[in-house]
Amino acid sequence: MKKWTLQVRLTVVVGVILLSVCLLLTANSLLAADTYYGNYASLIESGQVELDPAWIEADRIDPAAVSPGEFYREASHRFSIQSLIVMALLVVLSVGCTYWTAGRILRPLRKLTESVREVDDMHLDHRVATEGAKGEVLALTESFNGMLDRLESSFSIQKRFAANAAHELKTPLAVIKSSLQVLEMSPQPQEEDYQEFMADTGESLERIIQTVEGLLSLANLEAAPVGETVELRTLLDQAVRELSGRAEECGVMLAVSGQAQPIRGNASLLYRAVFNLIENAIKYNRPGGRVIVTMEQSEENVCIQIEDTGIGIEADALPHIFEPFYRSDPSRSQQISGSGLGLSVAKLIVERHGGKIEVTSKMETGSVFRVMLKQ
Ligand code: ADP
Repeated sequence: MKKWTLQVRLTVVVGVILLSVCLLLTANSLLAADTYYGNYASLIESGQVELDPAWIEADRIDPAAVSPGEFYREASHRFSIQSLIVMALLVVLSVGCTYWTAGRILRPLRKLTESVREVDDMHLDHRVATEGAKGEVLALTESFNGMLDRLESSFSIQKRFAANAAHELKTPLAVIKSSLQVLEMSPQPQEEDYQEFMADTGESLERIIQTVEGLLSLANLEAAPVGETVELRTLLDQAVRELSGRAEECGVMLAVSGQAQPIRGNASLLYRAVFNLIENAIKYNRPGGRVIVTMEQSEENVCIQIEDTGIGIEADALPHIFEPFYRSDPSRSQQISGSGLGLSVAKLIVERHGGKIEVTSKMETGSVFRVMLKQ
């Protein structure tokens, strides 16, 4: 029965039920007939009851050829045979109808199965048509299409991730290679040549290390413990102190205010998240600009807001800035250093703490990043 199709299984189950019910009903009616009319034969034979002429006509048995009692027994035998034949015919007809109807009902499911077979990682854009589907099949088709949407988007994010990671590592490696070639080609390299080579190589290696560290922290975040008590204000002060030199270099004013109750989390991870956000607010700013870090406490949440008066983020870029390796055009074209991993790491850290991160931005005016953490 395991290999039978659903259509056949349904038909067999309905057939067995029908057969049992019909057999019971027929047996019951035959027994009832015998109970109520069984003694007619002897009554007719003893002459107490006359044969009904309507029976004689209906049964087409010559009453002159047989005794009235035999006539009655022959008629009741024929009645039993006819009942059984009609019952068998009805069962066969009903089983046929069940098979046909089950086939029609299951047709959308078969179509769905065929469409599902056509989907593989090369055809994730394939969608199952919902025309003609109703009820549960429609719900199943829609859920399946929804799952394909999610799969397609995570496949394309993965592909982009791999391509970007390769690109991010390839660029500094190419710089090291070409510096080495330049050094090899010069017949008698001078000390300045070596110094230039070392400076270029050092910079490129630093970029490779940054990228690898970012990738490692993305991979390790899931398992990081988040059970210690964290004083958020201390953490913000620390990050602001560490970045104050950088802010000064860029001519950006940096300020922090607000208080909040301690939360449960991982201090070094949260430090990393706020550090990345404040560092970005300085990096993507302008001389004379400001970065204001504020913290507010509500009943259930702590909100840390990092507001800058920097270059802003294009509306098209906003949905992507938290993707690993994503860098918007202005940051690339203005050659602001970065690996494109800062925000994705910050987002993962905040989510690991059960919080969320939001951003609003206006080009040439500035951006506001809000981190909401549970108390
Ligand atoms: P990185 O800064 O290393 O490029 P991030 O993941 O930190 O990578 O940021 C991703 C992109 O988001 C940046 O390249 C930049 O284009 C944009 N971005 C992030 N923060 C800001 C900000 N405060 N102002 C303007 N653009 C920003």
